[in-house]
Parts: sequence; structure tokens; C-alpha cells
Amino acid sequence: MILTVTMNPSVDISYPLEKFNLDTVNRVAKAIKTPGGKGLNVTRVLKQLDDKVIATGLIGGALGIDIQKKLTEMRIENKFFEISGETRNCIAILHEGNQTEILENGPTISQSESEKFLEYFEKLVQEVEIISISGSLPNGLEDDYYSKMIEICNKYEKPVVLDCSGRALVEVLKNEYKPKIIKPNTEELSQLIGKEVSKDIGELKETLKNELFDGIEWIIVSLGADGAFAKHNDKFYKVNVPKIEVVNPVGSGDSTVAGITSAIYENTSDENLLKKANTLGMLNAMEKLTGFVNLENYEKLFSKIEIVEY
Ligand code: ATP
Repeated sequence: MILTVTMNPSVDISYPLEKFNLDTVNRVAKAIKTPGGKGLNVTRVLKQLDDKVIATGLIGGALGIDIQKKLTEMRIENKFFEISGETRNCIAILHEGNQTEILENGPTISQSESEKFLEYFEKLVQEVEIISISGSLPNGLEDDYYSKMIEICNKYEKPVVLDCSGRALVEVLKNEYKPKIIKPNTEELSQLIGKEVSKDIGELKETLKNELFDGIEWIIVSLGADGAFAKHNDKFYKVNVPKIEVVNPVGSGDSTVAGITSAIYENTSDENLLKKANTLGMLNAMEKLTGFVNLENYEKLFSKIEIVEY
């Protein structure tokens, strides 16, 4: 069983508009509302892969109930921890080829909720084999909250795939409790080391040797259309991907994380892990919906990926 964690989920609302008019009324014929947050994107892809998955995190209010209902309708097992604050809406206005986003901050978590969730999480960790944590922390939780969660996973020797950025990631790298894998993109990597990192292989290799990453078994840097560059212990790999027709790349990183998690769960080879992760990233980019993949094209894309050891 895989446990996915979404600490600040949302109801993602997408408003497709021919034209977005400022300072007046815009009417939307068809609004699309889906459970959102990076961890839930990961969950949906895992479900499509037929992996056994439980989704957890913090949830509250009417929108929280709505998310749980929708996940259950999708036959996704969900064990969220209820908080007193209200789960947020995140709005994407799709207009003239642009995407204008309005993101609510979400609820503020109380000290007691923060402590109780860790106890709740500890019980869940014992029911699963691997944990996939994605996205930002809600207000009220300390920057080192993921480290506390990873400490629990380490205690039960359960691997963690972590996809987060900013201060939450910095705290994890400083802490003694380590995830098995992190998946930054070049922007997040640049933020971490405090200087612009390009997609140059030599530079990426040097960057991943930085002591900042000591103790983390796998670092997979996703490079969009350029595939990925990865470090597994002392081995380095460049993943070359074929050219694809991109429809909507948003959430490709989450789909990649689903592939990584699924591959670790299967205990597969480095080559298969990297191919699975990148195939799923590409499949997401080829679809309009976020966290959706058409598995009919899986084998074809998988066979076109090239893994080169550096
Ligand atoms: P997001 O934050 O939107 O989820 P990300 O920045 O974390 O994305 P990307 O590096 O954009 O992640 O994409 C993840 C993977 O998806 C890439 O490693 C690659 O395999 C695939 N991918 C994404 N965009 C493209 C593209 N334009 N062409 C081919 N593959 C792509």
C-alpha cells in the first residue's frame, strides 16, 4: 500500500473563457471542479496505474467534505485528518491561451491539530510500505514539519518520496531524518543552492554532489522537455525523452512523482524507475487534465526513452 500526503489540498476550479474581461462580469458556461493539490495529483495517477493507494492530509469545512466525496466516487481510499479551518479553493482562469491563477492560502493549522496529526500519521505509516509527500505546508505548521513526518517514516523504515520546495525543503535537507528521494526541477534546485542552475549536464552533476544532498539516496531533477538528470548513490544518469505534442504540462512533475513512487514500491531497476517516471510525466503533458494519463500510449513512449550513465 502507498500513502500519499497532501497537507494543503484544494478544490481546483477551472474557468475556461474565450476572453477574460477585466473590471466587468465574465460568465462561465462550464466550470470544472476537481480535488487538487500536488499530492492528490500523484494519487490520481497512482490510481490509474492500479497501485493500492491511500490519500491523507488535512481537510476541513464543506469543501473538505466535497473532496472526500469526490475521492470516494473515484474509488480512491481517503483517510484525511479533520481540522477546524476550511479547505481552500484554487481558481485557474483559462483565457486566450493564458492561465491566470487565483490561489487561496488555505486554513491556519492550530498547535493541537499539528500535534494530533503526527499521532494520526504515525498510525497510518504502519499500514503502508511507502509514503509520497507533495506540495506546500499550510499556515500554522512549522517549516520543519515534513522533517517530523519523515522522522516517523524513518522510525518504521518506510521510504519517503518528497516533492516540496522553499523553506520546507531547506529544513528537510538540514535535518538528520532523510527522505529516500527528492524531485526538484531546476528552478527549485537553483533556489536551494542560491544560484542559477542551468540544464548543462556537467553543472548538474557538480551541483548534485553538493553536501546539502548527503544522505539522500536519489535526487531526480526533472528538466521538462529535456527529460531528467538523476543521482542514485554514486551513479549519475541523464534521461533523454522523445519529442511529444504537449497539451498541458501542468502537473507533469506530480505524474513523475507517481511514477517514482510506484517504481520504488515495485522495487524495480534504476533504468525502469527513470523510464516509468518520465513516461508518466510525458503522458500528463499530453493531456488537457492535470494528474491524468492515457496509459494506451505508455509502452510506446517508454520504449523511446534513453538512459545514459554519466
Ligand atoms: P509541475 O510543477 O508542473 O508538476 P515540474 O516542473 O515539477 O512540473 P517538469 O520537469 O516540467 O516537472 O516535468 C516532469 C517530467 O515530465 C519531465 O521530466 C519529462 O519527463 C516530462 N515532460 C514535461 N514537459 C515535457 C515536454 N514538453 N516534453 C517532453 N516531456 C516533458
